[in-house]
Amino acid sequence: MTEHATVSSASLSLQSVDKSYGSVKAVSDINLDIRQDEFISMLGPSGSGKTTLLRIIAGLERPDRGRVLINGKDVSHMPPHKRRVGMVFQNFLLFPHKTVAENITFPLRMQGVDRAGRDERLAWALRMLRLEGLAGRYPSEMSGGQQQRVALARGLISRPALLLLDEPLANLDRELRAEMEVEIRRYQRELNIPFVYVTHNQEEALTMSDRIAVMRNGIFEQVAPRTEIYSKPATAFVASFIGQSNRLDGIARDTDNGGITLQWRDHVLRVPPAAAVATGDSVVFAMKYEDVEIARVDQPIGDAAQRNQLSGRLRDIIFKGQTANYLITLDGGLEIVASATPREMTVTPGDAVVAHWRHDTGSSFKA
Ligand code: ADP
Ligand code: MG
Repeated sequence: MTEHATVSSASLSLQSVDKSYGSVKAVSDINLDIRQDEFISMLGPSGSGKTTLLRIIAGLERPDRGRVLINGKDVSHMPPHKRRVGMVFQNFLLFPHKTVAENITFPLRMQGVDRAGRDERLAWALRMLRLEGLAGRYPSEMSGGQQQRVALARGLISRPALLLLDEPLANLDRELRAEMEVEIRRYQRELNIPFVYVTHNQEEALTMSDRIAVMRNGIFEQVAPRTEIYSKPATAFVASFIGQSNRLDGIARDTDNGGITLQWRDHVLRVPPAAAVATGDSVVFAMKYEDVEIARVDQPIGDAAQRNQLSGRLRDIIFKGQTANYLITLDGGLEIVASATPREMTVTPGDAVVAHWRHDTGSSFKA
């Protein structure tokens, strides 16, 4: 798709959006086009500006500069209730003394939709969110997952042009969260409207999203399809924030088109090239745990000439379920972590091992 086509079919467009609170730049020069059928996550640590950006889209916050377009229309000066935007929050904010039905239809009452219209939409929402039979209950009579589905139903009842979700699963336990991740993605597919999903949890973002915008200090560090965010991080921050990585801080001893010869403490490594890195520069090299392989010192290593090899001792194995993290203390005292499937491994703690990986694996950045 060409750049032009992406822009013209965007159903949400943020253009040069800035917002400061006093001296704090909450969001800076944010530009983003979101397609009609897209599930996009804003992923970043606490304080990175995610909620501020959502509130600007919703109209709850006025940007200092820039525009918000929904389906091509500039809504920058429109109040929230005219924007056709649904919102779901972390703390579900259900009315405790209203029933499920009253909670869900609350936005319709505010809009003056008549009884028949409300009933019809309510039936649709209860079906969609699998809440049939619970319409007469009060929030306190339901599980956390059911309450969150009520909050989602309330966000969707007005048939919004887009749905904004701010850490909606943060208060749920792990199992329920995993279930709701799949559910929420299903709603998005069925409704075919954009979902803008805010989270600090990379697993949620990776599970649900078509694209992820990684935020830090009010800016987008990278906006890309989830697989690309994972495998081709654009910055050292993205590399460290997504997945689990070893970070090696070194000095470029030599550079050419094929890569960088990196001095990392006592070790010399070959790592992929990075933009604007010259000999003598400080370089951050990041490599996912699963890209590091382990061999016992007496085991042969295939294509050894294309691999970095560091010898050391296996210190511990941390089981994660299907995979485990292998902690290796290198000769010289540094530590490196490899992730592997225990069933396929024959090493045990105390073994002398070699950690190895291909020269073209991992990502390098100018420090
Ligand atoms: P996130 O949702 O990613 O945790 P926020 O958008 O809530 O981040 O906050 C971004 C920055 O803006 C933070 O430094 C925060 O302290 C600041 N901030 C957010 N809202 C306000 C406000 N109403 N008044 C002052 N500072 C705010
Ligand atoms: Mg927030």
